[in-house]
Amino acid sequence: MPNCLSWCPASLVGMPLTVVLAEPLGVRAGRSEGKRSSHGRKIRGRRILKDGHCATISPVRLLKLNAGGHLPLRAAVARGQAVSDGRSDHTIKARGKCMSYEIDFLPVGEGSGDAIVIRYGDGGTNNWLHVVDGGSTGTAKTIIEHIEKYYPGYYINNMVLSHADNDHAAGLVGVMERFRVDHLWMNRPWLYADQILHHFHGNFTLQGLINDIKVRHPYLVELEDLALSKGTQIHDVFQGQEIGKFTVLAPTRERYINSIPDFGKTPDRKTTAATDSGGFPFLKALLEQGKKLLEDWNIETLATNTVTSASNESSVVQYAALDGDTVLLTADVGPLGLTEAADYGAARGLSRATRIQVPHHGSRHNVTPAVLDRWLGPKLPHDAYVGTAICSVGSTKTDYPRAQVINAFMRRGFKVYSTRTKWISWYQGGGHPNSSPAQAEVFADEVEGV
Ligand SMILES: [Zn+2]
Repeated sequence: MPNCLSWCPASLVGMPLTVVLAEPLGVRAGRSEGKRSSHGRKIRGRRILKDGHCATISPVRLLKLNAGGHLPLRAAVARGQAVSDGRSDHTIKARGKCMSYEIDFLPVGEGSGDAIVIRYGDGGTNNWLHVVDGGSTGTAKTIIEHIEKYYPGYYINNMVLSHADNDHAAGLVGVMERFRVDHLWMNRPWLYADQILHHFHGNFTLQGLINDIKVRHPYLVELEDLALSKGTQIHDVFQGQEIGKFTVLAPTRERYINSIPDFGKTPDRKTTAATDSGGFPFLKALLEQGKKLLEDWNIETLATNTVTSASNESSVVQYAALDGDTVLLTADVGPLGLTEAADYGAARGLSRATRIQVPHHGSRHNVTPAVLDRWLGPKLPHDAYVGTAICSVGSTKTDYPRAQVINAFMRRGFKVYSTRTKWISWYQGGGHPNSSPAQAEVFADEVEGV
């Protein structure tokens, strides 16, 4: 792959670059929305940053967040709308070593599910494949064909199962049968049976509980058996672990173990009414039409307090800085895990991600305005652009991602893209050939009812 620096015209050396600065997770936005927008401007062309690194910039609106000051380029992360069925006309080669990567969200068929194939390189000849979740059983074929087409000869360095739900776990069995896999990162709830036995009031012996948990998780047992037979190393996946370039932000070991007794229960429900925003009184702001609610840019009806299942909340949340881009993979995590991940990210001094997976296939039970403020930043004017979000959605799930969720992401400067029947990619370094820009979801004036 070409050296990034060689792409930069020497005449542009030293030109200033205005970039979107990803804020530290621990800092709520102190800047006013108006200030952010008033300094927005478009930049084209290529730049060499003052530190000698390369930045290639296609048409994209960048915001200068600090009127007078120079933003620290080391911490700044310039990014484009590089979400597409591969190639995009909105790409920024961000600063830093040009190692290149693709993060491909694959279609999962009719039902829900996640299947993500990630390749990243070191700028030289080394490349790594990192597969996150495998969709349902039938999705294995899609993943195998994708890897064989775009990454022939590769094996899988790291295979990560986000959580035990079938629409994430089942497809990995076929993928592991096909490819060499060096490391399988997967939490196996039966390993902690001794620590949760007291929850079961003497109904189980330890072995009885282990057996019961295993019966409820057939794909995990199958993956474990397969991994052991192939010589794949199996690791548990808890906060703080590093998986290649990715850092695990959630779950903590303690929270995971405590949640095991609740696996299988599905309290996917809202617990409080929707909220308003921007000072609009709730009753005045919401106009109910049948079961629909009306929203506009200033009126947000997403629930302030919502819960998803314990299994979803046990999802592994991964974060990486790749080629200057910051990426957050959420699987089906909910407000609990997202908050835990943000707290940990803040403690580690991580920036907000600008490429974020919409949790749980776009369900409105997995995000709240507060959690989105934390991860995406505050609400912004219409034309502000901060980052992109990709949602794994089944081909027949026409009502996902939920309009409330799309709108909430868009208000915070994130364009939302959904897989349905296609794969969608974030990338740096060229992406896949013969692909075209993906279409973003549009803002909806009418959203799901309470
Ligand atoms: Zn799912």
